[in-house]
Amino acid sequence: MPDRQAIAMSSNSPEKPDINPERHIDVLIAGGGPVGMALALALQEYDYSVLLLETRALPEAVDDPRPLALSYGSRLILQRLGVWEKLTQPTPILAVHITNRGHSGQTHLTPDDAGVPALGYVVNYHELYTALRSLIQQGQTDYQTGAQVTSFQTNAQRASVLYQQNGTSRLVSTGLLVLADGGKLAEQVPEVNYQIHDYNQSAIIANLKAGSPERGAAFEHFTLDGPLALLPSGGGYALVWTLPAEKTETILQLEDQAFLSQLQDSFGNRLGNFVATGKRTSFPLILKHASNVTSRRTVLIGNAAQTLHPVAGQGFNLGLRDAWELADEISQSLPGGANEVGSPRMLARYNKRRRIDREGGRLFTDSLVKLFTLNLSLLQTATGLGLAALDHLPPARRFVARRMVFGARG
Ligand SMILES: Cc1cc2nc3c(=O)[nH]c(=O)nc-3n(C[C@H](O)[C@H](O)[C@H](O)COP(=O)(O)OP(=O)(O)OC[C@H]3O[C@@H](n4cnc5c(N)ncnc54)[C@H](O)[C@@H]3O)c2cc1C
Repeated sequence: MPDRQAIAMSSNSPEKPDINPERHIDVLIAGGGPVGMALALALQEYDYSVLLLETRALPEAVDDPRPLALSYGSRLILQRLGVWEKLTQPTPILAVHITNRGHSGQTHLTPDDAGVPALGYVVNYHELYTALRSLIQQGQTDYQTGAQVTSFQTNAQRASVLYQQNGTSRLVSTGLLVLADGGKLAEQVPEVNYQIHDYNQSAIIANLKAGSPERGAAFEHFTLDGPLALLPSGGGYALVWTLPAEKTETILQLEDQAFLSQLQDSFGNRLGNFVATGKRTSFPLILKHASNVTSRRTVLIGNAAQTLHPVAGQGFNLGLRDAWELADEISQSLPGGANEVGSPRMLARYNKRRRIDREGGRLFTDSLVKLFTLNLSLLQTATGLGLAALDHLPPARRFVARRMVFGARG
């Protein structure tokens, strides 16, 4: 595509998005989080001009402590992208124990249930981010940091996108605008409707040491406050502890010993005593799911398309599949016709292709949270029985395990 004449407006100029774009780009990705970066990397295989805009200045600004449980399917994608070998210590998950507080039922998933060598791998968001970033920087993607997309307009031929960088406003046009910013920019797209549910919960994240760790074992323990997950991480555990929003602040303020003793109360002593904890951080938890992820010349991926409760560790895994399948659709488009990048036909194909996986991820995650946190003793007994039954039904265990590993098509 020919470059257009460059313009750079000073930051206090009025925004006039549709006048004289600086240049034309085949694909513009707004948001360089892990999903946006994965898409940019996947597109490096093909001959498209790609501009990746990330609002954060790097790398200092990205110190996100959250652990990510990657499915085996995500590992395969990250291997294809060359990211996997850059991760220093992904910890394999060799068993998942699911228990429900106060009830005897439990289930135990193993890699055999899903026919894979490990049920998943635990990595740190920060490490994954850094690995993706260094590969992007080595490739041909035009990657701009400290660059915030502020507004955009679309017509049948293109999207005009305005962004701010170093006090300057820049205007570019693109055949396909990919919103990978977590969800704020989609508010400018009238066709996108979000289904939003606030769980009124937050997740506390911390790294822990336990007295009697079980190698490779992950624990999903459902309490009346919400699910408590312990993921194997190095020799210790990464904690994702869901609590009602009103309790979170009090627990975050506790000294280390008091915090560990509260945690012990909730989890029990299956791993012996918790002996050390790192810094604690919290994230508010909501479900935000777009019914439609495409609009004129625009597509939503990753958290912008669906922000899920972390209980089943599905969010990034789903987002990575969004990126991978979008790159595949883009690669099959043809220049300058009804099938070009960003055409209604290409977007309709992508929307259809992702529907079942996205819908399945939302239902699976949302049902888990609701089923195990309803404060009704009968239901609690039923879920206890359900877990016991699941443990004795290999096909059902296989279903749950493959769902966690490969998504809806598992
Ligand atoms: C506590 C917790 C635990 C989790 N655990 C798991 C797990 O075990 N497994 C799993 O699969 N998922 C998990 N998730 C979900 C996972 O973190 C997200 O799904 C994933 O981070 C989504 O990546 P993303 O790139 O779509 O969005 P984000 O990570 O939100 O990245 C969006 C990027 O866009 C940038 N941006 C925002 N606005 C603009 C703008 N206007 N212009 C330019 N750039 C912009 C942001 O700076 C950011 O870098 C967890 C989430 C939480 C909160």
